[in-house]
Amino acid sequence: MPIYEYKCNDCKKNFETLVMGNFKPQCPACDSQDLARLMSTCGFVSKSTGAGGESQVTTSAASSGCGSCASTNCGSCGMG
Ligand SMILES: [Zn+2]
Repeated sequence: MPIYEYKCNDCKKNFETLVMGNFKPQCPACDSQDLARLMSTCGFVSKSTGAGGESQVTTSAASSGCGSCASTNCGSCGMG
């Protein structure tokens, strides 16, 4: 399940959410659906904290910039 990062156009809050099917994300702060989707490369990098998790890392490019990212705000990651 991909995790996307959104930025609320109303209150400018950044948040991440799982997106599946026709699910329409809402801002957790103000319930707005006026959102801008950010290209979060960090959402696909599973941190190796435990065992038994999904450790399928197929995107080799993501490991270049977002290795130490806190995954809450990847706007400054060096992608592009
Ligand atoms: Zn909001």
